[in-house]
Amino acid sequence: MKILKFGGSSVATPESILRVKQIVSSRPESSIVVVSALGGVTDQLIRASTLAAAGDTSFRQALTDLRARHHAVSAGVVTDADRREALEAEMDALLDQLERICEGIFLLHVLPPKTAHEVVSFGERLSSRIVAAVLPGAVRHKAIDMIKTRRHGIRDEVDQELTYSLIQQAFRDWSPAGPTVVVPGFIASDAVSGEITTLGRGGSDYTASLLAAALDAELLEIWTDVDGFMTADPRIIKTSYVIDEMTYEEAMELCNFGAKVIYPPTLYPVCAKGIPILIKNTFNLKAPGTIVKKTVAPGTTSIKGISSIDDISLITLSGTSMVGIVGVDARIFAALTQEQISAFLVSQSASETGISIGVSRADGERARAVLEEAFEREISSGAINPIDVRSELAAVAVIGENMKQHAGIAGKLFTTLGRNGISVRPGRRRVQHFLHRGAAPAAQVAERHPRQLLPVGVPGAQPVPVRHRHRGRPPD
Ligand code: ADP
Ligand code: ASP
Ligand code: MG
Repeated sequence: MKILKFGGSSVATPESILRVKQIVSSRPESSIVVVSALGGVTDQLIRASTLAAAGDTSFRQALTDLRARHHAVSAGVVTDADRREALEAEMDALLDQLERICEGIFLLHVLPPKTAHEVVSFGERLSSRIVAAVLPGAVRHKAIDMIKTRRHGIRDEVDQELTYSLIQQAFRDWSPAGPTVVVPGFIASDAVSGEITTLGRGGSDYTASLLAAALDAELLEIWTDVDGFMTADPRIIKTSYVIDEMTYEEAMELCNFGAKVIYPPTLYPVCAKGIPILIKNTFNLKAPGTIVKKTVAPGTTSIKGISSIDDISLITLSGTSMVGIVGVDARIFAALTQEQISAFLVSQSASETGISIGVSRADGERARAVLEEAFEREISSGAINPIDVRSELAAVAVIGENMKQHAGIAGKLFTTLGRNGISVRPGRRRVQHFLHRGAAPAAQVAERHPRQLLPVGVPGAQPVPVRHRHRGRPPD
């Protein structure tokens, strides 16, 4: 059994949906197909509801445009008149419901989180109906009946055990000779209240991964608009090229640091079951794509890829007296956890006199407040310096399993970045993570210069072996 997930760009236009049909229909056995909303629709839904909440009547035009787009797409792909009529009636019922919700938001001038989730859910509810109508004999399974979340603080997290058992129940009669099943990605429902929830932007990948893991699928295919997982974001680095194969860990690092091609939580369910992920281009079937799996051939390059996230804040706690304070790290993370602030980068000096934590910029000031409260006594006594928050930074990750075997990489990168006027912030222990002003230039510089280490953008180039100039020094 294979799970095929098609992203927004793969279902954005009638032409792309017909490509999806071609891909799915060419399979000898039936597939389980997960779809995103038509490309751009989630953003349009967010815009419409935000306009309504702000009392701006132009939300009505945004909804009219959405209706027109879905009708145009359906007219472009469903040729059978009865089928199209039935599809349009279903879509209109949903779009009427969406209009009523937005009128409610407009009247009340509020957009509570649960209503915001409900509004964005319409994207996948509509697209999955179109795709199911296009694929011959296909049936639709409702994601909200299978993917269950539970509220933890301000987040909705998937209840994996319940979700897996509901998926297994829903697919108990599945057979390779049976109909293709279409499932809307991204949407879920609360295990307690039944209210609609969502899995986060890009969450359709995660839906597909949960299905693959629950059903012990042989492969998860992610169909998108690029030829595979690339050495860097192709929008930033035009010369990046496709990586043939990579490990789950390499993919996790790159995705957690901004490689949008896979939504990060997607990797865990399939990794736990050892199910490979194949990333393919809907618009270029000839490209072999990228396979992500447990182990890959060692390869000749030490670095696999670079990714970056803009808009981070770096929070630093320092003070010579920190060495003597028991459990500082535990207290920092307990305070951040209580506020549901996720720290994606931690760097501590060996002497324990300072710890720097990277959080998203949106969380920066909240993190400062919560840490000031947690360490009020130590800050006022001078044992810890006032908390330092630096924003307008970016994190760049340079990733590769083989880096472990090569010394001197960090040195080369620091030199290259320094030569290009990019200042590196903490650089304490996790040498593969650097913080700069502006990820894009940093990533470009890293790509452009240490080419012998980083053959990014030189397809087929033979990497020049790393010279171990710092022999005797422990590897970075
Ligand atoms: P989909 O709509 O199919 O889910 P996304 O827009 O979520 O597609 O993800 C694909 C996009 O991710 C690509 O178009 C590319 O611009 C971006 N991207 C960022 N980093 C990478 C990378 N390292 N490799 C491939 N694509 C990347
Ligand atoms: N439609 C959702 C989004 O745009 C989910 C997805 O595309 O994966 O974020
Ligand atoms: Mg995506």
